[in-house]
Amino acid sequence: MRVANYYGPGDVRVESVSEPDLGPDEVRIEIAACGICGTDLHEYEEGPDLTPEEDTSHPLTGVSLPVPLGHEFSGTVTAVGDEAEGVAVGDEVTANPAMVCGDCRYCAEGRHNLCESVANTGLSAKSGGFAESAVVPADNVVQLPDGVPVEYGALVEPFSVGVHATRRSGMQTGDSVAVFGAGPIGISIVQAATAAGAKEVFVSEPRAKRREIAEEVGARTTLDPTTTEAVDEITDATDGGVDVAFEAVGIEPTFKAAIEATKRGGQITAVGISDDDVGLTPNELVVVERTITGSNGYLSGPLADREFEMVTSFLESGEFDPEPMITARISLEDIVEEGFEKLLDPESEHVKILVEP
Ligand SMILES: [Zn+2]
Ligand SMILES: [Zn+2]
Repeated sequence: MRVANYYGPGDVRVESVSEPDLGPDEVRIEIAACGICGTDLHEYEEGPDLTPEEDTSHPLTGVSLPVPLGHEFSGTVTAVGDEAEGVAVGDEVTANPAMVCGDCRYCAEGRHNLCESVANTGLSAKSGGFAESAVVPADNVVQLPDGVPVEYGALVEPFSVGVHATRRSGMQTGDSVAVFGAGPIGISIVQAATAAGAKEVFVSEPRAKRREIAEEVGARTTLDPTTTEAVDEITDATDGGVDVAFEAVGIEPTFKAAIEATKRGGQITAVGISDDDVGLTPNELVVVERTITGSNGYLSGPLADREFEMVTSFLESGEFDPEPMITARISLEDIVEEGFEKLLDPESEHVKILVEP
């Protein structure tokens, strides 16, 4: 079968390999679609980060480079291991890509998404979604409801990041919300916060196409931070700041803006994965009693289906609409030129590109 293998920064090769073996508690999925994520771009540009370092193997899965990429995928089950339960050949499914150790301190505390040796299908495992088929643990499989197109299953993973962030934020019905950055995760947060009953959602995003999509999926006000004083506009419109802000970029200007646009006593959820220094001063928190919360991925391990099923039910009800953020569908053979390179172009208007082998 054909698969996109990651060899190192700038080196992703679409090549022919034999299908990975099917273990007794695993299922094989014929891939319908797999979304390209910012994480994939980060690996492509400056990895290995979540993929194994050169000449090492992953502590949980034992895989080493090259590894197949693609962790946002969906498809149809074509084979089921002898001990796999709750899934049958022909099921249309997605899968939570996270695999956890089950015995570190964080797994013991039920916070599996903080597992010290987490591995992910499509980053540090034997299978990935940029392929004709993938093998995943049956426990990670999540059924797609009837009526949800199978390719939309590829968006369940990024939507789950938005759902988890919204739940981490403690946002309440009727709260005002600001989202900084309208990439796939920012757009997912707009939809999750709207579904959770946000009174109004502001979005700050420099790219016009992304602001347009944010409005299409529920943002009441979108602002271009390069031409307007986005923080002033938000604080003026909300009598001093929103109840809850989400930072979905991970750079100093948006991090600062998210804090400044939040009311006294308000809450900021940091979702943008980044090693940047964001230059905080204590009194942006202390004297105004703001809280910053980190949000990492989504529930996993024994709770792998929890937030994924919230998303599939929102897809079924139509409260989540993936279509506006799908800006291209490409073939596996074109993943580098038409996928990674297009998304890395700063002028690009792409948001989510689906690879459909
Ligand atoms: Zn992702
Ligand atoms: Zn663990």
